Amino acid sequence: MARTNAGHDPRALTTLLSPTPRALWALPASGDVSLDSGGVNVHTLPMARILLIEDDPSLARGIAAVLRAAGHTIDLAEDGESGLMLASDEPYALITLDLGLPDISGFEVLRSLRAGGSKTPVLVLTARDAIEDRVAGLDLGADDYLLKPFEPSELEARVRALLRRATGEASSTVMIGALVIDHARAVASVNGRLVELRRREWAVLERLAARVGKVVSKERLNSEVFGYDEPVAPNAIEVYVARLRRKLEPDGPTIRTIRGLGYVLDPS
Ligand code: CA
Repeated sequence: MARTNAGHDPRALTTLLSPTPRALWALPASGDVSLDSGGVNVHTLPMARILLIEDDPSLARGIAAVLRAAGHTIDLAEDGESGLMLASDEPYALITLDLGLPDISGFEVLRSLRAGGSKTPVLVLTARDAIEDRVAGLDLGADDYLLKPFEPSELEARVRALLRRATGEASSTVMIGALVIDHARAVASVNGRLVELRRREWAVLERLAARVGKVVSKERLNSEVFGYDEPVAPNAIEVYVARLRRKLEPDGPTIRTIRGLGYVLDPS
């Protein structure tokens, strides 16, 4: 599977399609920055997990640099099949999708995502400006379009708008002790430390967090985390709970095993 991490080096931005690349990595979006008492710029949790499906390496590096500078966590898929695989495995808050991919088209990716029930916002990045493409994409469930070439600031603004729209007016953030779960952005953090969760781990944590302090049975977790016709190992939930415990340690809430009954997310 073609999965790579695009470089962190902000200089990669100079390869971006903008005719006049600007040093936006040094200037996080105004609404997302606050001044702490020491006068140092700090991000106030604007981060989201974002999947880039883009086959042009220099473009992917440039986009990743812009979005990382805005505080987001970025994964890159270099073709459509890898993108679909990642999207089914990880809890992304947003997907940016290139239409011209080496294997299946971006339209196919979008169709598969929506057919599979994914409601993740999709921002289509495309060089094509044919009106039919835009109409077809929107019909298939794209949430917004950005035509190449675009300015880094425009990319960042569109991403921010889509994430805001997904969040809605109401807060979708849950705090349990030192743990913060942001449903709309699909990120969890403990004392400000980002906790990287895979899709199933995320699902188990969400279920436990929804009934914090109460026992959630293994059977219930099994039925809520896995599909009806999915083959599931008998100890699958134990495995995910063990991984979650490791990731929440040492300062996050604990997941207690209540023998014979299930699990409790304990905020203390
Ligand atoms: Ca392409």
